[in-house]
Amino acid sequence: MAFKRHQINRRVIDDLKSRSIIGMYFYLLVTIAVLTVEGFYKKHISFSVFFLTAMFLIAAFRIIHHYLFDKIDKKAPRLNYCIFFTSVYSTSLTWGVGFAYFMIQPGELSSKIIMLASTVGLNSGGVVAFIPSWRTAALYSIFMLMPAAIAMFYLGIHIALVVLLILFILYMTMIAIRGNREYWDALENEHLLRLKSEEIEKISRMDVLTGLYNRRYFNEIFNIQWKAATRGNMMFTIIIADIDHFKEINDTYGHLAGDAYLEKIADVFSGIFLRDTDFVARYGGEEFVLLLQNLDKNRAIELSERIRSEVENMTLFHYNHKIQATVSLGISSCVPQTGDKKEYLFKKADNALYQAKNSGRNQVVFYSDGEKC
Ligand code: GH3
Ligand code: MG
Ligand code: MG
Repeated sequence: MAFKRHQINRRVIDDLKSRSIIGMYFYLLVTIAVLTVEGFYKKHISFSVFFLTAMFLIAAFRIIHHYLFDKIDKKAPRLNYCIFFTSVYSTSLTWGVGFAYFMIQPGELSSKIIMLASTVGLNSGGVVAFIPSWRTAALYSIFMLMPAAIAMFYLGIHIALVVLLILFILYMTMIAIRGNREYWDALENEHLLRLKSEEIEKISRMDVLTGLYNRRYFNEIFNIQWKAATRGNMMFTIIIADIDHFKEINDTYGHLAGDAYLEKIADVFSGIFLRDTDFVARYGGEEFVLLLQNLDKNRAIELSERIRSEVENMTLFHYNHKIQATVSLGISSCVPQTGDKKEYLFKKADNALYQAKNSGRNQVVFYSDGEKC
């Protein structure tokens, strides 16, 4: 499956959200610092109250939105994204206006230096945080730095700084674009790796010849289903099936014919055991094992009989040869209790199969010694 960017829009938003939220706490601390360190607030009371209140409200809003994000997302995802991006741009624009106010004041050199350094620092941090969307990063940078650049240009002051700020925006945008490319490459690799590992996991469970599950996966599922049956106090059934005189098919018609027969017989099993919890595996060469939950004895025998009879009536035409065989099946079932051993139930099904073979093959034997395991 090809990697499609729009499919992981949500992942990008989540990344943007979690990467940028840390910055909000810094915004609040830095706002207090720039206003108080050189006593700027004393001479600019109303601006300071406005700036601090605005930054505080935006930060509080963003922090609350961050925690409500998932809830709103279920009802109105588009609105949620709009709120997120609007609040991001409001943060940078509000800061940008405050920055401009600082920079156009006559004198106040120390406060201006602190504000300039803080702005550059917050801006760089923000751009790096918004790398998952380079346009967001660039806009964020522009909203934060351009108001001061425009105001200073308009007033004809600190022109060299105006040029530096514009160069800085370009530099930040380039960093965002570069970082963005690496971010998407990493996501794509992660996606491809996940697909590959899912594929490998699937292959590792399958029997190549029949397409049924293999013995390795059987061991895993046997354990899981046994525990589930113990917890749920459910009837657990094992059926082991073994093709009769299979060696003769190989010896008479060749191994390829034997393989084709195994493929065909696998379809019989898959066609009869259809419930989600039914588990069919190729256990060995021409042995199959079935795990069934919540199936009473009569139904287990009935289904096994169906297998036996369908196999008996099944014909494989292989290079003008007509191949027919039969199958023997052993069943055992019990309601497992804590401490019971699953291997014991397996052994009972195996004994039942042995009995079926000894009593002439092409038959179903149920190992009966009650519901105890
Ligand atoms: P019984 O009725 O007692 O089960 O007799 P049988 O001949 O089926 O039993 P046995 O276990 O002696 O022989 C099983 C044969 O299955 C031997 C082996 O060559 C064959 N076999 C095992 N795996 C494969 C396979 O993947 N492909 C083919 N074609 N044959 C296989
Ligand atoms: Mg065998
Ligand atoms: Mg056999």
